[in-house]
Amino acid sequence: MSELAYPYEAPASQALFDRAAAVTPGGVNSPVRAFGAVGGTPRFMVSGTGPYLTDADGREYVDLVCSWGPMILGHAHPEVVAAVQEAVARGTSFGTPAEGEVALAEAMVERVAPLEQVRLVSSGTEATMSAIRLARGFTQRTKVVKFAGCYHGHVDSLLAAAGSGVATFALPDTPGVTGAQASDTIVLPYNDLDAVHAAFAAHPGEIACVITEASPGNMGVVPPLPGFNQGLKDACAANGALFVSDEVMTGFRTSRAGWYGVEGVVPDLMTFGKVMGGGFPAAAFGGRADVMAYLAPAGPVYQAGTLSGNPVATAAGLAQLRLLDEAVYDKINATSAQIQGLVGEALGKEGVAHTIQTASNMFSVFFTDGPVRNYADAKAQESFRFTAFFHSLLANGVYLPPSSFESWFVSAAHDERAVQRIADALPAAARAAAEATA
Ligand SMILES: *Cc1c(COP(=O)(O)O)cnc(C)c1O
Repeated sequence: MSELAYPYEAPASQALFDRAAAVTPGGVNSPVRAFGAVGGTPRFMVSGTGPYLTDADGREYVDLVCSWGPMILGHAHPEVVAAVQEAVARGTSFGTPAEGEVALAEAMVERVAPLEQVRLVSSGTEATMSAIRLARGFTQRTKVVKFAGCYHGHVDSLLAAAGSGVATFALPDTPGVTGAQASDTIVLPYNDLDAVHAAFAAHPGEIACVITEASPGNMGVVPPLPGFNQGLKDACAANGALFVSDEVMTGFRTSRAGWYGVEGVVPDLMTFGKVMGGGFPAAAFGGRADVMAYLAPAGPVYQAGTLSGNPVATAAGLAQLRLLDEAVYDKINATSAQIQGLVGEALGKEGVAHTIQTASNMFSVFFTDGPVRNYADAKAQESFRFTAFFHSLLANGVYLPPSSFESWFVSAAHDERAVQRIADALPAAARAAAEATA
């Protein structure tokens, strides 16, 4: 990378990135981490405390990624760390049932009314993959409806017009997904109920489920228009299909009961990950008891996992969920609103066209006059301005998601000092965005 484009250096991160590239494709284990959309050296982090991350070069950043949402209490929260240490000392995996997984499932069922039963898995991808299999097994139908810009993990059949890293890297059809898998997937524009009704009319008796992000965050934050999710639910009910709400990102983040707690639309199946694992690989899918009864060993639809319900992961998730009371969400929402205000003010002062969209405390900044209602709108933004904005903030100790198609995440540990650091860094970043050229 040219020194002009990135006038500050991260030699220790660069050395690690070079080592990584020799043994790992692209030097990372998840594509967006490679900074492909913004260029420059990905920062290799060494430690995290509260709202801060420290990289291999010893630089500290205010973290506005929070591991893409899970670190909702901040990094290394003492009570979560203590729960993990206690669990680790009792053994790290049994391959048998254990009480921790029961307690985590109970905590989820207690918080989210439509969840009558849950099955624990290890990643959001596994959760959506399993939910789709269950929906197909239950309905004995093949087709799945998804929305452009919604990301549901790297499930083969759902990697069509997906957001997140796929949005960033513009891989609309990834090699390795077969035509047969893609042909059972119907991709529709988000927030367009007419398109949903047309799909049901065109494929009578064939659609097993409609899957949607409860409130999309993987094309940037694009909340459902009023009535959209209820319309999906009603269309599914009228046509014998299941409504699957993917709350992997929004679950236990947008409220104590996730996006369901904000909007109240009752899905047939739901998926979870991120916050519920407390920073460990724990995820889940669940919902109606009569549908979940189709799952092995209760029913015929096979699903399993060696590390599912892992005792360390469930201890971390449970400790985190127990700390997430209404007061914590109020605090995160207030801090998020404060940061949104600072960003809007800085960009406004420099005359940079932008739209800030929110879903509870999740938000993102689109470099376009809004509103952004779907993936096509999101792609119309001036992402080159984000690149300049991102690098200016990074140079001044603020770590944003390295793509303009992602939500920003705030934690309960973001205090006045952290917010002040963001405020101090914003004017120069807004100027850089204003001066950027395509
Ligand atoms: C992150 C995410 C996933 C995938 O979860 P992984 O744990 O990364 O596999 C699925 N759906 C949504 C909405 C997500 O944000």
